[in-house]
Amino acid sequence: MTSQRTRDRLIRRLREEGIQDERVLEAIRNVPRHRFVDEALSSRAYEDTALPIGHGQTISQPYVVALMTQALIAGGRPKKVLEIGTGSGYQTAVLSSLADEIYSVERIESLMKQARKLLREIGCRNVQIRLSDGTWGWKEHAPYDGIIVTAAPATVPSALLEQLAPGGRLVIPVGGPSMQELMLVQQTEKGPSMERLELVNFVPLVRDPG
Ligand code: SAH
Repeated sequence: MTSQRTRDRLIRRLREEGIQDERVLEAIRNVPRHRFVDEALSSRAYEDTALPIGHGQTISQPYVVALMTQALIAGGRPKKVLEIGTGSGYQTAVLSSLADEIYSVERIESLMKQARKLLREIGCRNVQIRLSDGTWGWKEHAPYDGIIVTAAPATVPSALLEQLAPGGRLVIPVGGPSMQELMLVQQTEKGPSMERLELVNFVPLVRDPG
């Protein structure tokens, strides 16, 4: 159920759905997604579907992880990446081999701790995770060549634009609770340019009070 054959089937499926970046496909092939879900769900880990991870949150659908990662690294290998919404840590693990340093922010402590432990176990050493409200980014390590947001705000948080390096790419779902537009924002000399990628469905980005 978690065999190489099952994983290869997922990669074939992602290709059929239009994912072309071999770096992304290879990264997804190498990440053991079954480790990021509850054991009871591990037989479904290589289906192209989102799955519950507790606390009303989900591990993202592999197609959406691939699409976002592909958009993030299309301009070349980023040195520093900021991720908002660590969740299970699955997207973080996919990014780990595709960028030099990953900084990831999660607001639910138990998810953050579990992801940190698992990423360490599977050898993702270039990842740092912090407990906080990602609406404010992670200023200390800014600017970032890439920022990826895996929970949906109604509008792009201004702190994330401020922490994006010149030429950097921000991939973020923007919209209401049931459906969002996946946006690619690029930091150009003339200011941010926006491109719509696809309709997606993420959990909301929750702003913590104060
Ligand atoms: N990429 C993750 C997706 C997890 S779902 C995965 O594949 O597992 C989105 C995550 O964003 C949840 O864990 C949720 O707690 C987190 N989140 C929501 N609002 C947030 C905020 N303001 N700051 C940080 N994390 C947030």
